[in-house]
Amino acid sequence: MHTNSLYQEVILDHNKKPRNYGKLDHASHQATGHNPLCGDRLDITLQLENDQIQSIAFQGESCAICKASASMMTAAVKGKTRMDAETLIHEFRELTTGKLDTNLPHHLGRLTVFSGIRDLPTRVKCAILPWHTLHAALNSLTNASTEADQDPVQTIVPDHS
Ligand code: ZN
Repeated sequence: MHTNSLYQEVILDHNKKPRNYGKLDHASHQATGHNPLCGDRLDITLQLENDQIQSIAFQGESCAICKASASMMTAAVKGKTRMDAETLIHEFRELTTGKLDTNLPHHLGRLTVFSGIRDLPTRVKCAILPWHTLHAALNSLTNASTEADQDPVQTIVPDHS
């Protein structure tokens, strides 16, 4: 299937049936993300146990791209360790900004349908917002904004090693 039609199909599917939509009652970590350019706003709640994401949920008001990205993200990081999630965040960011060589090994799987978005700079922020917000939640920052910093994933990473 052509990448573009697969992309549209995936976006539609995840908007019709968003995965992990809602809010966890007992979240160990949470953050709110905001993309003023588009008006996207979303809340991510997650439960981290033994450094593993046991459960995760998102909710909010956002455009189709943001919602599909959030839906796919929650499915992708559920059950993963914090470090594996951070790897995915980094790879997704590289993918949508056109820096990832998809011929080299990566962990994005079906998330690569978002690769075409690099040609749409205003939509990149929509697609990345859930990932910025997840990063903020994992690092216990309560707010993420695509406007706050040009390169938040690169600059706000606390060193836990
Ligand atoms: Zn948007």
